[in-house]
Amino acid sequence: MAYAALNSTISGLGTTATYASVFEEVSKLNVDMHFVERAWASWYLWMQNDTIATGILSFVMHEIVYFGRSLPWIIIDAIPFFNKWKIQNTKVPTWREQWECAALVLISHCTVELPQIWLFHPIATYFGMDYGVPFPHWWEMAYQIIIFFIIEDAWHYWFHRALHYGPLYKAIHKLHHTYSAPFGLAAEYASPIEVMLLGFGIVGTPIIWVLSTGQLHLATMYLWIILRLFQAIDAHSGYDFPWSLRRILPFWAGADHHDLHHERFIGNYASSFRWWDYCLDTEAGEAAAKKRREKKLAQIKAKKAQ
Ligand SMILES: [Zn+2]
Ligand SMILES: [Zn+2]
Repeated sequence: MAYAALNSTISGLGTTATYASVFEEVSKLNVDMHFVERAWASWYLWMQNDTIATGILSFVMHEIVYFGRSLPWIIIDAIPFFNKWKIQNTKVPTWREQWECAALVLISHCTVELPQIWLFHPIATYFGMDYGVPFPHWWEMAYQIIIFFIIEDAWHYWFHRALHYGPLYKAIHKLHHTYSAPFGLAAEYASPIEVMLLGFGIVGTPIIWVLSTGQLHLATMYLWIILRLFQAIDAHSGYDFPWSLRRILPFWAGADHHDLHHERFIGNYASSFRWWDYCLDTEAGEAAAKKRREKKLAQIKAKKAQ
């Protein structure tokens, strides 16, 4: 639904209307809409500038989710009971390390990430993104998000692997590897070039999707960003629980996969899934190295036997 139609019906409220009064009016006119949709529509109507409305919403959401999701990991790190599930359990981050990390991440959010966050709305709407109400059906959001996860994982695998090439590693990626035992807050602790390069996989995938299919809603984009932030922060948490997602979905990477990458510096380049590293023989760690050695040995033996 276009906001113009709603706009004319609430125009009687005038330019000094509060958000609450707009919400009340929208709720009266749209009893069939659920709360989030009414709050969403009211926000755009109240702001009167869609680019600014999305920009503020995106930035605030990103900060709340990033630091909000990191907070439980900060608390868990401070409670010794959880140490038995910490992968590198002798390397618990200090308060100082966490503070310095949070400060750099916050600066990055307000500088390099800001244009990506801000420009998303005009670019995506130019290519056909919808941001009206009602939201698309849940299954439409779900299948698109699964596709984004798969595409972004491939993007991340190749560019992250490239960033481990000597000169690129030294110039760009080394900063992210400051912590050999990562923690939640360190997920976006990276150089501006890395943030833009790997961030493009996250923001660019939905743009390419809407460009080729003409179908995307901003709410789907937000849900994707929230889930991808959860993935990145949890993968850096350093904790592998018996109830972690990778125990249910064996192809899900999780903390177990990425912690090893930070510890060994080589292998496990993908973000969300294990298949790229598995198929291209770039799995990190002792077990994978042993498997590779055995495979090579078997090949040599087979050659000799011929
Ligand atoms: Zn790396
Ligand atoms: Zn990392």
